[in-house]
Amino acid sequence: MITPLHHGDSNFNAGLLTAHKLQPINTTITLSDANRIWDVIVVGAGPGGSVAARQLALLGSSVLLVDRASFPRSKVCGSCLNGNALATLDSLGLGHLIAANGAVPLRKFQLSVRKRTASLQIPTGVALSRIRLDVALVNAAIDAGAQFLPETNIVVEQNLTRNKKYRYVTARCGSGQSLLKARIVVAADGLGARRVDPKDPTRSQIIDRHSRVGAGVMLEKIHVPDWCKPGVVFMCCGKGGYVGLVVLEDGRLDVAAALDPMSLLSLETEKNQSRPGILATSIIVESGLPRIDNLVYAPWRGTTQLTRRPKQVADHRMFVIGDAAGYVEPFTGEGIAWALATGAAVAPLAHKASQQWQPAFVDYWCKSHAGLIGRRQRICRLMGQLLRHPGLVGLAVSAINIAPAIARPIFNQLNATTLDCTTNRRLPELA
Ligand SMILES: Cc1cc2nc3c(=O)[nH]c(=O)nc-3n(C[C@H](O)[C@H](O)[C@H](O)COP(=O)(O)OP(=O)(O)OC[C@H]3O[C@@H](n4cnc5c(N)ncnc54)[C@H](O)[C@@H]3O)c2cc1C
Repeated sequence: MITPLHHGDSNFNAGLLTAHKLQPINTTITLSDANRIWDVIVVGAGPGGSVAARQLALLGSSVLLVDRASFPRSKVCGSCLNGNALATLDSLGLGHLIAANGAVPLRKFQLSVRKRTASLQIPTGVALSRIRLDVALVNAAIDAGAQFLPETNIVVEQNLTRNKKYRYVTARCGSGQSLLKARIVVAADGLGARRVDPKDPTRSQIIDRHSRVGAGVMLEKIHVPDWCKPGVVFMCCGKGGYVGLVVLEDGRLDVAAALDPMSLLSLETEKNQSRPGILATSIIVESGLPRIDNLVYAPWRGTTQLTRRPKQVADHRMFVIGDAAGYVEPFTGEGIAWALATGAAVAPLAHKASQQWQPAFVDYWCKSHAGLIGRRQRICRLMGQLLRHPGLVGLAVSAINIAPAIARPIFNQLNATTLDCTTNRRLPELA
């Protein structure tokens, strides 16, 4: 329906490098040299995996950070970091990366539905392209001592009878393949659980049957309409989903949407590739904002269903973090904050578990994870349901226009820091 992401597409990546003047991140280790015992293998070098790998390396673990993509790589995302994400980066000593990469401070959130608009001040937040953020975090992990192996696809072995002291993963890089072993695996592979063998029935995910799918595209600076001002997040809601627009540090417009799959399918068009652009354009116009030229035929990219979670977020010698541990909807712009917080929180646990594994760690991470982001995901899920009723959102917009203060508690909640609640919790005593 929507073009899947082609992270490893060399033409696409070459274009990104030129546009962003970013250096490719070279592998720090070959697949054959990676064939040794690791304290921790981290699968996926998004914000969650990179932060986990960095923190683990700082704690003294030997860490292999693996990603199937080559970096820099793009990612369907609204590219907004909220106060919670910024506070986590600050507390890890990574706050300087935000300004160093030219992030655009956000001041205003403008919600439009049925030709009604409400504007809210954003207390803290920035827009920073994922291509820059993710490169900065991978480099921070490498600087801390993690080894980085890009363009390598991982499948976590489910056969636990081999040797219970390790967790095995099959790594495929080009025509090479190797069975790697680690005392702990941190799964940070994002939506869709691609690390899992699709034939394995035990690793299934619970997917919300009303789930929307994600879609995104970048518009070059020359195509950005004048009314799209830097520092403002434009959020347009309609029957077929919602679309967020934000100007990035390089002047491009990040267009990210959560779309109803049935609305996409019901569109009358010969070209499947145009469906997200057509639906996003109709949502923008329905909300009352002007039509954006070039959006329909822009090269949209898509995601699988968004609202999902695995049956459990830990297993024998494995902890799951970030989107891989469950995602809801992008409306509140919290996914990066959740990935950073769970990546930072898992590090001391994974470090300790690599020294001496205890089955109690499984339950511990399941509870810690729920404590860390469970409540926020419930709020996000509620908002996702509200957004299915543009009439109700219209009433909310009118109410906010009369009394803007009613939205403040929600904004404060979304921006509140989550990290402290687990990093300060005592890890289970080793037997
Ligand atoms: C439309 C949309 C808009 C969004 N807008 C925002 C926003 O404005 N703000 C916000 O905070 N969040 C937003 N999000 C959510 C945010 O993008 C995610 O929550 C965030 O990227 C999660 O980070 P992660 O590290 O868990 O996973 P990811 O960033 O997805 O990284 C996972 C990595 O794992 C790698 N990988 C996958 N499978 C394998 C494998 N088998 N072997 C090796 N590597 C593998 C991938 O290549 C990828 O690099 C949005 C999401 C969508 C869909």
